[in-house]
Amino acid sequence: MNKTETIAGISTAMYSSGIGIVRISGDDAFSVIDRIFKPIKKSKKMAEVPSHTIHYGFIMNEDDILDEVLVLVMKAPHTYTRENTVEIDCHGGVLVTKKILELVLKSGARSADPGEFTKRAFLNGRIDLAQAEAVMDLINAENEFAMSSSVSQLRGSVSEKIRSIRGEILYHVAYIEAALDDPEHMELDNYGDTLSPVIEKVCADMEELLANADNGRILSEGIRTVILGKPNVGKSSLLNVLVGSERAIVTDIAGTTRDTLEEKIRIKDISLNIVDTAGIRNTEDVIEKIGVSRAKENAREADLVVFVVDASRELDADDMEIAGLIREKKSIVLLNKSDLETKVTKCEMEELTNSNVLEVSAKENIGIEKFADTINEMFYQGEISFNNQVFITNVRHKEAISLAYESLKMVEESIKKKMPEDFYCVDLMNAYGELGRIIGESVDEDLVDEIFCKFCMGK
Ligand code: GDP
Ligand code: ZN
Repeated sequence: MNKTETIAGISTAMYSSGIGIVRISGDDAFSVIDRIFKPIKKSKKMAEVPSHTIHYGFIMNEDDILDEVLVLVMKAPHTYTRENTVEIDCHGGVLVTKKILELVLKSGARSADPGEFTKRAFLNGRIDLAQAEAVMDLINAENEFAMSSSVSQLRGSVSEKIRSIRGEILYHVAYIEAALDDPEHMELDNYGDTLSPVIEKVCADMEELLANADNGRILSEGIRTVILGKPNVGKSSLLNVLVGSERAIVTDIAGTTRDTLEEKIRIKDISLNIVDTAGIRNTEDVIEKIGVSRAKENAREADLVVFVVDASRELDADDMEIAGLIREKKSIVLLNKSDLETKVTKCEMEELTNSNVLEVSAKENIGIEKFADTINEMFYQGEISFNNQVFITNVRHKEAISLAYESLKMVEESIKKKMPEDFYCVDLMNAYGELGRIIGESVDEDLVDEIFCKFCMGK
């Protein structure tokens, strides 16, 4: 067997605390720690101590004590990565933790890539795909909301729900297949009557997952935001203020489904993905440039539309047109240039757009806090709770569930039309397969196992 490379990294605590953990995983984990650790008790090699034991001592850089630590020794395969794993609990703060990592890297480990521990856990069969993705989401979590959602997915709530739905489906497929095989001993009469309520229940569960999927996406990826407004009302200025209010723009990420650029902006723990369809940053005349129909389309796909108006000028036909566009959307109207004498009132705008209207000044940086608070109220307060809901945060999962759902609807059709039972099986298996993609499990082995275990024993 090939030797696995030994990797090391800092597993950062989610809250800031004085303790840092350096994790080492791989075939050489124990020899690496032996090179730098001096236990208080008699010096034993770490490979020789029992698994899952904690050892108190010092990390030594040659003759210097670097830190007083606890070393946790865990032997394969009962570890997160299923490899030999050592965790060094350091107490000297962030800087010391980094120094210890450096020392570890000098002593035979290489620096772990982001997510590499999790990748190993997945490759070694320790966690399923949904859980691995949740960990990756966690690593990439943009804000606290996203964090909580990843944590609950990680605990396996999505996987668990999907598994239970799959289990249900599989049971019935297995029964039908077995009964078709052995009609003398197994009853199939009116099996649709048995199956119908099951499908109904499962579909309801899936509907709930799908209904929450958008919330989940918002939580993990940010609020998809489109800024609309005539030329010169202050869109670019606003964007600059928003960007400036956060130390850095996180990234420019290429849109996943279309070739638009999204600019990620964080204000007060909220992530906005500003969809820059017409290059607000570089060009003027957004509406003119992208045209009203494109604007409409952009607005339709957005979670939030921000309509910027120059409040120092009278409203004109273009403003009215945009106002009409956004009536049915989650939107916020910003009456910009409120530092000047204003010609547009909050009231009339509220009536026109049916939205939250805020007076701001991009130039004077007024009203931006309120803007953030309003978004917070619209998207997060009361509407989303983390404790009892299972969120699908991942586009791939959403797709798979949709496809599975359609297949189950086909089964319902077949039952209604009194089609033969083997028709049910085809669509049930499609649904089962789609759901399996979420947790990375293949169809065939399961089915074989299930049939042989449950119904065909001893045959
Ligand atoms: P855009 O075409 O919508 O992107 O508008 P810009 O951001 O390029 O701004 C157009 C003009 O309005 C610039 O001269 C800005 O300095 C000015 N401007 C933007 N916001 C404000 C504001 O809040 N108050 C005032 N007085 N001027 C502003
Ligand atoms: Zn501009």
